[in-house]
Amino acid sequence: MMQDKKDKNIIMYCTGGIRCEKASAYMLHHGFNHVYHLEGGIINYARQAKAAGLETKFIGKNFVFDDRLGERITEDIIAKCHQCGKPADTHTNCKNDGCHLLFIQCDECAKQFDGCCTVECQTVYNLPLEEQVELRKGIDKGMMVFNKSKKRLRPRLDEMNKK
Ligand SMILES: [Zn+2]
Ligand SMILES: [Zn+2]
Repeated sequence: MMQDKKDKNIIMYCTGGIRCEKASAYMLHHGFNHVYHLEGGIINYARQAKAAGLETKFIGKNFVFDDRLGERITEDIIAKCHQCGKPADTHTNCKNDGCHLLFIQCDECAKQFDGCCTVECQTVYNLPLEEQVELRKGIDKGMMVFNKSKKRLRPRLDEMNKK
C-alpha cells in the first residue's frame, strides 16, 4: 500500500516523540527515503510554539498517558462525546471497575451515566461493592476492556449456533 510512496516526504508525529521516532527509523530501514519525525512530539512542539509566540498548528487536546489524560493545546474542541455525539474532548475511564473503558464523555453524559460508558456499567457501578466484586469474578476482564464489540456480538453468535 505504501510501496509507491518511498520517495515522498513522510512526516510522523506522536504525543511525546518516542513512538514516531521508532516508526520513522523502521520506515527508513525499509527503503523510505524522506522520513521525518517531530522531535519531542506534540508536547514539545506545543511548548516551543508557545515560547516562540507562534501559532500552533495542532489544535484541540493532546492525549497524554498520565492521570491528566489530555493536555489542552488550544480551545478548539474537535472530538465528540462517544455517547451523545456533541462536541467534547474529555477522556475518561469508565467508573465501573470491571470495565475501565477509556472513552470521551461530555459533562452532561458524565452526570447522566455517573461517569460510566453504558447503562450496563452504570448499573454495576451503583451496586453495593460486595455485589460488584462477586460479579467481576465471573467476567473475563480482558474481554470487557478490549473487546466490547465482541462481547455484544456474543449472544447473537450463541443464538446462531443453536439453529
Ligand atoms: Zn455526551
Ligand atoms: Zn463501562
